[in-house]
Amino acid sequence: MNTRMKRCPLCGQLVPELLYDLHRSVDDMIVGRMKRDFPGWSEHEGVCGPCLERYRRVTVTRMKRCPLCGQLVPELLYDLHRSVDDMIVSRMKRDFPEWTEHQGVCGPCLERFRGITKGPRFTPAALSTVWIPV
Ligand SMILES: [Zn+2]
Ligand SMILES: [Zn+2]
Repeated sequence: MNTRMKRCPLCGQLVPELLYDLHRSVDDMIVGRMKRDFPGWSEHEGVCGPCLERYRRVTVTRMKRCPLCGQLVPELLYDLHRSVDDMIVSRMKRDFPEWTEHQGVCGPCLERFRGITKGPRFTPAALSTVWIPV
């Protein structure tokens, strides 16, 4: 019998069959994660069983609880000082005194705080140089 082996577009392994129709069999989140890791890939190309299992596991175990809003999210954002303003981080710390940026924060929280700090901006430096007449 001549089985035509197929190459998994994600891991490159030859497998007897690829799985398609992912949206029906797995979570959108898993498909989204695959797409993030393999930007050229689309679910119509299929994946092999082991890849699917790998992503299932990763996605399940990676759910984390946001320390600010308490929601379960696929991933938390760290390294805030590099991606956002210091002012946003200090605002988060003011509202959540127990929290440090090393604990991370979910995307929606980050957006929320970004939104809050929009508008007139006073940098800490500007505030400290405000001259108050005695
Ligand atoms: Zn694979
Ligand atoms: Zn959050």
